[in-house]
Amino acid sequence: MLHNRGDSESGEIFTMKEEVMDIKTKALHEGYEKDAQRTMAVPIYQSTAYEFKSTEHAANLFELKELGNIYSRLTNPTTEVFEKRFASMEEGVAAIATSSGMSAIFAVIANLAEAGDNIICSNRVYGGTTTLTSHTIKRFGIEARYFDIDKPEELEELIDDKTKVILFESIANPSVDVPDFDAIVQIADKHGVVTAVDNTVATPVLCRPIALGCDLTMHSASKYTTGQGLAIGGIIAEGESFRQKITGNGRYYHFNEPDESYHGLVYTDVPLPPFCLRARLALLRDFGITLSPFNSWLFIQGLETLPLRMKAHSQNALEVAKFLEAHPKVQKVNFPGLEGDKNYANAQKYLKEGCSSVMSFEVADFETAERVTNGVEIFSIVANIGDSKSIITHPASTTHQQLSTEEMERAGINRGLVRLSIGLEDPGDLIEDLKTALG
Ligand SMILES: *Cc1c(COP(=O)(O)O)cnc(C)c1O
Repeated sequence: MLHNRGDSESGEIFTMKEEVMDIKTKALHEGYEKDAQRTMAVPIYQSTAYEFKSTEHAANLFELKELGNIYSRLTNPTTEVFEKRFASMEEGVAAIATSSGMSAIFAVIANLAEAGDNIICSNRVYGGTTTLTSHTIKRFGIEARYFDIDKPEELEELIDDKTKVILFESIANPSVDVPDFDAIVQIADKHGVVTAVDNTVATPVLCRPIALGCDLTMHSASKYTTGQGLAIGGIIAEGESFRQKITGNGRYYHFNEPDESYHGLVYTDVPLPPFCLRARLALLRDFGITLSPFNSWLFIQGLETLPLRMKAHSQNALEVAKFLEAHPKVQKVNFPGLEGDKNYANAQKYLKEGCSSVMSFEVADFETAERVTNGVEIFSIVANIGDSKSIITHPASTTHQQLSTEEMERAGINRGLVRLSIGLEDPGDLIEDLKTALG
């Protein structure tokens, strides 16, 4: 049904493309083959290493003649269920879990670019992605160039023969910008450049960038995956298009030529999804940015209900956004589900099942924003998103405190801006809470 039960050779490291099942079914079943105990819950394989049957078996595993577990820095059976399930939900051919969302983004860059190369990043991305791209990778000799997410045509001028990847977010955190996927994909494909989409806020339930023509997606699993704020983790999903884009493409010579660090392996010669294969064999091996099996297990529990939760988050958020839009003390609401929002058209086109739970609104000034933030009772003041419990933040006094007025303007942050991540409480209760706090 969902997997190839009889064929143990094919299933070890990657998932076959599976588009027939609905995402709700995949979220509950994909990637898990019951062992002799037939446990309904996926077991936690809390083990560092695995026994070889013989030296020959060991040698075969190291040579990739046989696929199997060697050491949990590289593969783990619990993590593998999480990877297969996520890959299938993203309509990808494989996925690789990492220790955090930031390590997933770093792995995407490190697997594609080297010193002397450049990457192109949207101007509206998560704060950690901004510091990673503008400061940290610079020290590795990789340059970041930025394009205006509202002007994908800018990519044409930024791409050159050293450009290795275009990064953007399907719903930007915190600006909630929704990109014009078609325009970006068209330019990337024309130049043979890989696209990688941070799909954290939308999740595969609301947006599937691979089905829209993108090559990779990356996630912070720390947010909606459990919805309970239980663990830090990340994951990257690979689309079938990745192999097509890099095979024989000089821009990605390191996938097409022998890898000296893996006794001359040519990644495109192996019948496994090449991005994940190289990320596992080279990056997990050398960086050790591995997800713990216990955290994989937590994420598997979360995925089971992700489709239900994302729809409820989106419906609640839309109700709250409509309430705020109509409130006399609210000057502006940023939520792509509102008809007047600048992202409404792209949201209608690319986010079929809802716009997730992140929004922001502007009140008169810094003091009013502080008063609202301190005045709510159900919302918690937390620098996070994607929890089942509602969250409120005042960026000007917390996450964006260090920025100058100019820098804040560029980031789209006003001193009277309040950010919300709408949870799964009753939306009527949330609206009452905000109404009282707004006064
Ligand atoms: C939180 C977040 C990240 C970073 O993920 P961690 O798991 O915290 O490392 C990256 N991108 C987006 C959009 C996020 O919201």
